[in-house]
Amino acid sequence: MSSYTVINPADEESISTIDHVTRDATDEAIARAGVAQKAWALVAPADKARALHRFAAAVDGDRENLAQTEVRNSGHPVTQARWEAGHVRDVLEYYAAAPERLFGRQIPVSGGLDVTFHEPLGVVGIITPWNFPMTIAAWGFAPALAAGNAVLLKPAEWTPLSSMRLGELALESGLPEGLFQVLPGRGSVVGDRFVTHPAVRKIVFTGSTAVGKQIMAGCAAQVKRVTLELGGKSANIIFGDADLEKAAAAAPSGVFENAGQDCCARSRIIVQRDVYDRFMELLEPAVAAVRVGDPRDETTDMGPLVSAAHLASVRSYVPDDAPVAFRGAAPEGPGFWFPPTVLTPASRHDRSVTDEIFGPVVTVLPFDDEADALRLANDTEYGLSGSIWTRDVGRAIRVARGVESGNLSVNSHSSVRYSTPFGGFKQSGIGRELGPDAPLSFTDTKNVFIAVD
Ligand code: NAP
Ligand code: MG
Repeated sequence: MSSYTVINPADEESISTIDHVTRDATDEAIARAGVAQKAWALVAPADKARALHRFAAAVDGDRENLAQTEVRNSGHPVTQARWEAGHVRDVLEYYAAAPERLFGRQIPVSGGLDVTFHEPLGVVGIITPWNFPMTIAAWGFAPALAAGNAVLLKPAEWTPLSSMRLGELALESGLPEGLFQVLPGRGSVVGDRFVTHPAVRKIVFTGSTAVGKQIMAGCAAQVKRVTLELGGKSANIIFGDADLEKAAAAAPSGVFENAGQDCCARSRIIVQRDVYDRFMELLEPAVAAVRVGDPRDETTDMGPLVSAAHLASVRSYVPDDAPVAFRGAAPEGPGFWFPPTVLTPASRHDRSVTDEIFGPVVTVLPFDDEADALRLANDTEYGLSGSIWTRDVGRAIRVARGVESGNLSVNSHSSVRYSTPFGGFKQSGIGRELGPDAPLSFTDTKNVFIAVD
């Protein structure tokens, strides 16, 4: 059996060795999930709600352990990791209300009664990336369970530990055996088996656009339902009339949070030309102020990158002759460190402008007017998030409507809220997670006509 040794990215020490789940073991897990799902679907809505509340309470009780696990495995700053663990609890609480609110409709027809039901799909396979292991998992498993499905979760190979702990907590909280199983293993083995196994009726995939396309193609063979949350290259659009001090102070958190390993990172700052120089003057001290260091330290803003391989990939975007405007600090010594880096490329088509770097590297480019800002913001195959800084309400609304992206914020870099929908336009994905409608995406609508005579 193959295995993977989990490495702490802050000091490169080994943490533990995880045996990979095999293809046969995946098939066995799918079979167990199928049995558990049939029983779960029959559980009364209020009892499903109670079970999810208990799962949420178990997560709440283990929050500090989950957070410290993420600090060690993923290098997330501890304050951020605590937020993530609390967010998992909140997502479970939010969807615990769903079983009792999965309303169908009664539709007027002649000759009888017509009603719709939201039937669970069956077994759902969730495949997560390494950047936010537990939060992204929860966006899938909480509404899927609430809608009456069983869930198999395959975490990214590099970051399985917090997901595995969530699997234990589900059992400890009394969720039925087999209903929620975490299967650490290779994407090409476990993840692929979710796609090819006919009993898995939906895939929720978060990860790269390249793998997402393969998954979508694989799902087509069985008309398997699929939700994809893919990459991003989002714009932070700063107009001349904005509160520049505020926009500059907030820009680093919009892109450097989680060391830029965030699909919503505003990794392209675009600034109206007449305020460009002033904005850069304000941005420099804001970038210098980002505290990069030991993720266990509560004052740390930014930790290391997740792995040596990922560090090498990020580094390739900042060669020796790169147009570096300025950069922040990073520790020396062991760990996969990369400083916050601000580039001012000469061309709008430089690969630093077009590729998702997924690290603490941001480009800054000037634009001329509103139309040019939209052209530049939309000049990408991605469309996940973005921010608009202006004091002009009309412009804020026009530009928010004009940016081809699923999640926009005005005069802020709003992070994800569990109560509002999240997902991408264009090649950033398909389908939406979170918000009030998420459970519906784990159901098929059934229409039943009952004759009255
Ligand atoms: P990735 O390489 O696409 O991997 C994502 C997951 O897919 C991992 O669990 C991986 O397993 C698995 N996988 C790989 N090949 C597979 C295959 N052939 N069949 C089934 N599963 C397979 O992405 P990543 O490098 O982990 O994550 C970074 C990417 O995720 C970025 O592009 C980022 O933008 C995106 N992301 C998007 C969102 C969003 O909500 N839109 C959120 C976070 C991240 P292994 O670990 O075993 O390879
Ligand atoms: Mg990968």
